[in-house]
Order: sequence, then C-alpha cells, then structure tokens
Amino acid sequence: MRELLVAGNWKMNGSDAVSAALVSGIVAGVPEGSGFRLVVCPPFPYLASVAGQIAGSQVALGAQNVSEHEVGAFTGETAASMLKDVGCEYVIVGHSERRAMYSESSDQVAAKFQATQSAGMTPILCVGETLEEREAGTTETVIGEQLDAVLSATGIDAFEPAVIAYEPVWAIGTGLTATPEQAQDVHRHIRARLAEHSVAVAENVQILYGGSMKGENASGLLSMPDIDGGLIGGASLKPSDFLAIAEAAAQS
Ligand code: PEP
Repeated sequence: MRELLVAGNWKMNGSDAVSAALVSGIVAGVPEGSGFRLVVCPPFPYLASVAGQIAGSQVALGAQNVSEHEVGAFTGETAASMLKDVGCEYVIVGHSERRAMYSESSDQVAAKFQATQSAGMTPILCVGETLEEREAGTTETVIGEQLDAVLSATGIDAFEPAVIAYEPVWAIGTGLTATPEQAQDVHRHIRARLAEHSVAVAENVQILYGGSMKGENASGLLSMPDIDGGLIGGASLKPSDFLAIAEAAAQS
C-alpha cells in the first residue's frame, strides 16, 4: 500500500511573517490519521525558519529547485548539500515553470534529480504536457520523453525512493483540473512505463497529481488507484485550503 503525499509548492509568494503564519496554521491543523505525509516547499530564504517550526511535527520540508552542480562558482545557485543541511527531505525538479521560463532541459532536470538523491533527499520529478500537446494526442509521448531523460541517466533503481508529479501544464494555476479519469489514465501510463523496467519499483513509486487541486476536487482525484497524492500550488497558500486537501488524503 503506497502512502499518500500532499506537497505544497509556495512558489515565490509570501514573506517571513506570512510563511511563519502559514506553516504554524498547517502544523496546528494536521488531520488525525496515518497513511499520508505532508510536505511544504517555501521560498529558499524561509527554509531554515520553516524547518525550525515543523521540527517534531508530521510536516516535512522540501525545496522548489536545486543546482545540478555540487559546489563552486555558480552565482545565485543552491547546492543539494545545502538544502539537506537546512533540513530539506524533498526537492521539486523539472517543474513546468522552470522548464518553460528558465529553459531547463530534460538533461538538466535529470542532473538535478541525481544531485538531489546524491545528497540524501527525495526528488519530486514533475512531468506534464501542454494543452497543444494534449490536443495533438502526444501526451504519452511527451511524458515518456521526460521520464526517459531521467531513466537513462539514473536507471530504474533510482526511482525506488523517488516521487513523480504528473502536472498537466494546462491545469497549473488555471483553475482547470484534469478529471479524475483523465489524470488516472496518465498515472497508469507512467506506472506502466516504469514497470517495463521494474514491476516492483513501478508499484512502489508515488505518483502525485498537480494542477488546480483543491479541497473540492481532491477526494475524487485521490480515490483513483494510481494517484498517490497531490502537488499543490495556489491551494497551498492558505492553511485551510491546504488542510482541506490533507483531510481528503487522511480520509482516502
Ligand atoms: C503547481 O504549480 O505545481 C501547481 C500544481 O499549481 P496549482 O495548484 O496552482 O495549479
């Protein structure tokens, strides 16, 4: 039985005070129950203080990005070892905003995936198609290529402690959500693709859905057999919204 994971990607929002209030509201309202895990991914400047606030709680810390390099003259970059140092357990890699706005290639995403694991953290690898790609019927091809770029760099065993987030680009921040059936179809495909390499790894890997997930649609999505949680953007910025999704995970 796979544990459910609900991860909040705060993106470039908030302030020191806002992030402190957000995380204290989340920590105070974590639903009773087991079988699910919560992760918050604040902006980099607030990672250390959020780490202090969540210590001893059921909430884990994640980062939104990482450098693929270990150390050295990379102005403005943050090494995986540094994220580990401040208490991160997860790192989001390959988010569509980074692929589109910062021209991150699939090879770079694979290198970030590896850097995250080498530092002892779990990558949350984002994959997903644009609206044009969906309408052209190439969703599975696009996602297959995004997965293969990492698989060919790391091998299947690297996915044993990894998380994949299926995030249709057309559903991110738009209010449009994939239906549970649309999402399940892609999640099933991702798992089947991994199973071509190892059935055991494919069975264990957590596949999250991301794209305008909120309290109202979370239960339907989380009831699907291959949806193991959510990567949440907008609805992770208010404790009540995030906790409504956590509640749906606790009930699943
Ligand atoms: C995201 O950016 O990862 C995301 C899922 O955003 P939203 O929930 O706002 O669509």
